Amino acid sequence: MGEIISGKLLAKKIKEEMKLDIEKYNKLYGRAPHLVVILVGDDEASKSYVKGKEKASLEIGVTNTTIIMDSNTTEEELLKLIDELNDDDLVDGILVQLPLPKHIDQTKVITRISYEKDVDGFHPLNVSALYERRFGVIPCTPRGIMEILESKKIEISGKRVCVVGRSSIVGMPVAKLLLDANATVTICHSKTKNLGEITKEADILVVAIGKPKYIKADMVKAGAVVIDVGVNKDPLTGKLCGDVDFENVEPKASFITKVPGGVGPMTICCLLENTLNLYLKHMERKD
Ligand code: NDP
Repeated sequence: MGEIISGKLLAKKIKEEMKLDIEKYNKLYGRAPHLVVILVGDDEASKSYVKGKEKASLEIGVTNTTIIMDSNTTEEELLKLIDELNDDDLVDGILVQLPLPKHIDQTKVITRISYEKDVDGFHPLNVSALYERRFGVIPCTPRGIMEILESKKIEISGKRVCVVGRSSIVGMPVAKLLLDANATVTICHSKTKNLGEITKEADILVVAIGKPKYIKADMVKAGAVVIDVGVNKDPLTGKLCGDVDFENVEPKASFITKVPGGVGPMTICCLLENTLNLYLKHMERKD
């Protein structure tokens, strides 16, 4: 039987610690960290993600301003708002909820956010920092995955790791972090042949593909650590499920995360950690 790693409980513990830190820094610097979240349009999933970020911020004493813009907002209007927030000394972190409406160039928008306020870690300077092993902002989901592994003291060095999915927000950065932790990493994607043969070799299997219950028990090594990033709707039940066939994989795994309650809560927790770090750096720059 695999031990289920609760990202929810881990996030709760980290957030309680952060709350105390924020109380202390609030007294020291005269204000709390301030995160601004921008949502363009009325995509239901995005609205609920933004709400979750707002709730978590308020729980630990981070000031959260959520700006909701009409779906007809022009690229110029959005860039102008970002410029204003970049210049606003009372703002520490800026997050533009993705995806943006098609008429807005996502790369242009991400690049416009000051890398010093880029809580998502998507700015090219933060991306290059990750690949050059310099200090930057680590994207929230990959950071959360590393914290999940760390929380259970799971040995990474020398282990065979398979990351399924190569997106720039999850698969690639988490593969880099695992490589930096001295794992031997294989990255798989939609064109990978004999996927199950490769995943079965992995001591640690990270799956981020967005395909409900795609990873079956026969694709997993006995005793593997399985981290399920996927967030999908089960076509049969309509309930949330991951990319891993949890019921059948769990008995084979040594550790496993569940959806919901696994990686998701740690993604939000790491967003707050990134916000707190950027606030502290902001305050240091002012000294
Ligand atoms: P993307 O769609 O950007 O990337 C999906 C990746 O999976 C691609 O690299 C794709 O390959 C690969 N892939 C797709 N199908 C297969 C397949 N059959 N076999 C092997 N590889 C495949 O998704 P994201 O990385 O943004 O997200 C992945 C999942 O994680 C989604 O369910 C998303 O909702 C969830 N997610 C969850 C978060 C959380 O906090 N819990 C945060 C972010 C995402 P190719 O490159 O060849 O197209």
